[in-house]
Amino acid sequence: MAEVLKGIEVANAMKEKLIAENAALIAKGVTPCLAIVRVGERQDDLAYERGALKRFEGLGIAVQVSVFPEDISQDEFEAGFKEINGNAAVHGILLFRPLPKHLDEDAILRIIDPAKDMDGMCDTNIAKVFAGDESGYAPCTPEGVVELLKHFEIPMKGRKIVIVGRSMVVGKPLAMLLLKENATITICHTRTEDLAAECRAADILIAAAGAAKMIKAEHVKEGTAVIDVGINVDDEGNLCGDVDFEAIEPIASVITPVPGGVGSVTTSILAMHTLKAAGKI
Ligand code: NDP
Repeated sequence: MAEVLKGIEVANAMKEKLIAENAALIAKGVTPCLAIVRVGERQDDLAYERGALKRFEGLGIAVQVSVFPEDISQDEFEAGFKEINGNAAVHGILLFRPLPKHLDEDAILRIIDPAKDMDGMCDTNIAKVFAGDESGYAPCTPEGVVELLKHFEIPMKGRKIVIVGRSMVVGKPLAMLLLKENATITICHTRTEDLAAECRAADILIAAAGAAKMIKAEHVKEGTAVIDVGINVDDEGNLCGDVDFEAIEPIASVITPVPGGVGSVTTSILAMHTLKAAGKI
């Protein structure tokens, strides 16, 4: 039976250091502050927002939430966003994406100050991730995966890591972060010819496809470490990952649950980024 790796253990391990760093900045006269920018009321945005507010409250880090109406015009949204972006009291920004279809997301990503781009969305930060330059901000979820692997002392160096998913939010930046850890990476996607065979070759299998319970027993060899980034809703309306947990738990060496796995680390990385940004002022 696999050991179940709980994200909260990683978040708790990070907690003390984050609290101390926040206190040190406040003592120097800087009050770190994250601005969450949300357009509309999407359920997944609201769920993430609740999680982030709870984590930041536990760490004593300030958060301001700016909500814009779903039908806001591009001009109005850009004006509101620029105001937040230019506010010296705001050290970091988390913009929920995707934006409603009528809004031009790329235009906003051209506006955001790379020094405040806490979820590594703009070209400057993405380029730094690909260059292995740690002075910017990687997207929080992939960085959370690496933090989780480090925390549970799962070796990456020289090992074969297979990632299912090639998005700019998770798969691609994660591949670059893991490459920096000297792993050997394979990235799979919907055109991969024999997904099960690719996955079975993995020492560490990371699912970031957004397809409920798609990773079955045929994808996992005995003893693989299985990390589930997916957040989906199953046929019964319950939250689930990309991994069929019941089928994989008896085969894998370690496995992350959904909820309670990678997602629980993401908000701690967001807090870490906010403190890093505030510390550069
Ligand atoms: P995207 O939809 O942008 O990308 C999904 C990727 O998975 C694509 O590259 C796609 O391939 C690939 N894929 C989808 N289905 C299959 C399949 N059946 N076989 C092989 N590859 C497949 O999703 P995101 O990267 O944004 O998110 C992935 C998952 O992670 C989602 O469930 C999302 O909710 C979750 N997530 C979790 C976060 C957290 O904090 N835990 C944060 C962000 C996301 P192709 O490119 O060929 O279409």
